[in-house]
Parts: sequence; structure tokens; C-alpha cells
Amino acid sequence: MSRGGTGRQRRVSRTKLQERRLQAAAAVDVAPLYDVVVVGGGASGLVAAICAGEKGAHVLLLESSPECGRPLLATGNGRCNFSNVGLAPKYYNDPAFVQAVFGDDPLADILSFFRQCNMRWCLEEERLYPLSRRATSVRSVLLRRAGSAGVTIACARSVIGASRSDEGFTVTYREEFAGNMERAVQSHCLVVSTGGTQSTHDFDVADSLGLESKPAQPILCPVGCEPNPILDLDGRRLHVRAQLTHTAFPVWSERGEVLLRSYGLSGIVVFNMSRQVKTGDLIELDLLPDLTKSELQQMVDPFAHGSFEAGCLDGVLDPDVASRLEGLARSRWTLEDTGRDEPASDSEALMALAKSYPLRATGTTGHEQAQVLRGGICTNQFSTETLECTSIPGLFATGEALDVDGECGGFNLSWAWKSGMVAGTAAATR
Ligand SMILES: Cc1cc2nc3c(=O)[nH]c(=O)nc-3n(C[C@H](O)[C@H](O)[C@H](O)COP(=O)(O)OP(=O)(O)OC[C@H]3O[C@@H](n4cnc5c(N)ncnc54)[C@H](O)[C@@H]3O)c2cc1C
Repeated sequence: MSRGGTGRQRRVSRTKLQERRLQAAAAVDVAPLYDVVVVGGGASGLVAAICAGEKGAHVLLLESSPECGRPLLATGNGRCNFSNVGLAPKYYNDPAFVQAVFGDDPLADILSFFRQCNMRWCLEEERLYPLSRRATSVRSVLLRRAGSAGVTIACARSVIGASRSDEGFTVTYREEFAGNMERAVQSHCLVVSTGGTQSTHDFDVADSLGLESKPAQPILCPVGCEPNPILDLDGRRLHVRAQLTHTAFPVWSERGEVLLRSYGLSGIVVFNMSRQVKTGDLIELDLLPDLTKSELQQMVDPFAHGSFEAGCLDGVLDPDVASRLEGLARSRWTLEDTGRDEPASDSEALMALAKSYPLRATGTTGHEQAQVLRGGICTNQFSTETLECTSIPGLFATGEALDVDGECGGFNLSWAWKSGMVAGTAAATR
């Protein structure tokens, strides 16, 4: 038998593990009143709870899953790209708001926080990963520190409502174990850290407390394209410069790896493109970004005869992709409505396809494939110094629950950590 046991045994032990987690969650005592209740035990909620607890507040963290920090485990392909040395507000959708919350040196604050957790890190290009290169390390150090900060972590409890009360807030939650009882807890302050999924849970904070919010839209995800001959090469990875054009205006361009999928494009570059793309946009891929046009001419048609030899690009491009381009060039394939001039020869057609391969975007793919959901609670309702709601004293929000999203590369977790620090500290001080 294999070391991991049979599929059935693994299923049984997974169910047992789940049961054990639920039992552990059920054993947690929830008091009737807290200084701070944090809703959501993901990246920003854990940090908010830690910061509030370390300031001496009596803190309860309510999490709907049987364990905290689950979303963290999938980050960075299981390695958790937790920040970026190029951290700057310009990489976010709302740079002014992010700048004001970030303060002078957000990276120093984030690294200092994790240093105090006894975590160390390593750099890959500009991206920061835990030294262990395991996302579980990040979750583990946060849970340990939350425990030391005296935070009561109550998992398997889904918040289903929040209203204002004499004490501050009444937070209603449903226990996700034995009996699914509904219970309520009072708190002076409430921190909403429900992530980008908040609108898909039973609890919609914006509705519950009368806040304005924007609908969720999946981003940092693959981009769907209209059927296109190159997409038959599903699974191929290409190093390109990708450009996005919206109604004849180039709006975005980035260099890096693109993954061809039967339904469109994926890969980190495309995830960043997904923050800008609109249905009908033109995507152009420079498949040979390291070659100038004259270098390409030398390879394809050095004597300008107008034709090319089969395999002329095999040394610089995936031969299957090169062969696909050759076929398309010979048949003078073109994407409709691009306004391009008809190439004068086969070799010109091939060079045009290699330097600017066209695809038509149909928009972003669904929620399931998205790393981040754009939208959430509108930021103009919150103080940038404290992340406290200006119209509801004692109410704070962090992370993706707010309408803040950043590029791929550790920017979204950086926002989660820093916003958690600001809100948690301010809630405790209040
Ligand atoms: C596959 C994947 C990979 C990613 N990789 C990276 C990466 O490498 N680097 C990076 O910077 N970003 C990455 N991200 C994005 C990053 O994970 C998020 O931006 C970040 O986790 C947001 O933190 P948060 O605290 O706002 O929300 P989350 O971490 O999503 O936590 C929200 C928590 O709230 C809980 N919750 C929601 N509603 C309720 C309720 N009603 N009651 C109780 N609990 C509730 C949820 O169960 C969840 O645990 C990735 C995302 C995904 C999906």
C-alpha cells in the first residue's frame, strides 16, 4: 500500500480531522461582551486581532470556517508571496486612499511585524516569501501570536448580522456545529475583515449597517478570449510583451509569461491585465520581445523576397507556435476589426503575427478562478488614519472587505497586513 493510504482511508481521515476541528471550535467559550470583535480570521482579521489584543483589548475573532487563515494556505501557490520590496500605492486601484493608510514606510511596518512573529523571509525578484517557502508558516506564526495576545479565536461561527446597540454592536452568529444554534455577542468595536467573499456570505456588512458598497467583480484571474487559432495550443507558456487596447487606445502593457488556455490567457501578466480588461478589448502579444524588427527580418526573409522558409523561427520560438504562425501567415489570417493594413507578403504577415499577435478579450473569468474580488465597502466612508467608519463610530474594516485591490506580487496581502494593523490598533485604542 502507498504511504498515503488508499483514497477511502484519506477521505475518512480528512472527515475525522474536520470533526476534530469542529469539536475544538465547539469547546471555545465565547463571553457575552468584548472590547473588539473581529469578523473573519483571514490575513487582515488575524493581524487586526493581534494588534488589538497586544494593545490590551479583550478580543474575539469569529471565523466561519472550522479553522482560521485558510485563504492564506493557497497564496503564492502554497508558498505565500506575502509582500513586495517595490510596495507602493501606485499598484492599487485607489492610490490616494492606500497612500494615506500606508504612511511613510509600509514595508518596514510589515517586515517588523513578521520579524516579531519570529518569521524570516527570502526574495525572488521583488517578491517576498517566508524563508520556509511555505504558506503554512505564515498562518502558523499568526495563530501563535494571536494566542499570545490573548485573542479568543472562535471558528465555525458564521456572522449573520450586526446592528448598533448601547454597548456598541450586537453581532449575531450561527454555530456551524451541533444544532447550528444562533447566538449573539456584544462588542464596543467591530472590525469587518470578511475578505472579498463578504458579499457572497450570509452576512453582508454593507447591508447590515447601511454602508455603501460596490458589487464584487473577479480580478487577478485568467482573461477569456474569442476563439482564436493560437488557443488550440492549450497549456503552452510564452514569454511575451502583452498590450491591451481599449477602443483604439493602448491602456496597459507588461512583459512576462503568458499561459495559453483553450478559453483564453492565463499567467501572472494576464492576472495583472485582468484588472484593466473590458469585453471587446484588443490584446496584442509580442511573441519575440527580445528581437528588434530588423533582427526578425534577418531570420524570416533576409533578402526581402516576400517569402520565408519553414522553421525559420524555430530557434527563437516554441516550434509548435512558430509552425502555427507560419500556417496563419500563408493563409493571411487576420483578426477582424483591428484596422490593420493587409500584409504585402507572406514574410510580412509572419513578422506582423510574431511581433503583434491579436486576440479579442471577452472579459475576466469567473469568481472561482479569481485571486481577488474588486469591489466591497466604499473607502470614502472610512478615516485613513484609523480605518474607522466616519458615520458609525467603533466600526472598522480591513483588507479585501474594502474596495481596495492591488496587482499580483504580494500587494494584496501587504494591504491586508497593513490595514489590519491600522484598524486593530485603532479599535483597541478607542
Ligand atoms: C489562490 C489565491 C492565491 C493568492 N495569492 C496571493 C499572493 O501570493 N500574494 C498576495 O498578496 N495575495 C494573494 N492572494 C490574495 C490574498 O489572499 C487576499 O487579498 C487576502 O487574503 C485578503 O485578506 P482578507 O483578510 O481581506 O480576506 P481573507 O484572507 O479572504 O479572509 C476573510 C476571512 O473571513 C471569513 N469570513 C467571511 N465572511 C464571514 C462571516 N460572515 N462570518 C465569519 N467569517 C467570515 C472567511 O472565511 C475568511 O477566512 C491570493 C488569493 C487567492 C484566492
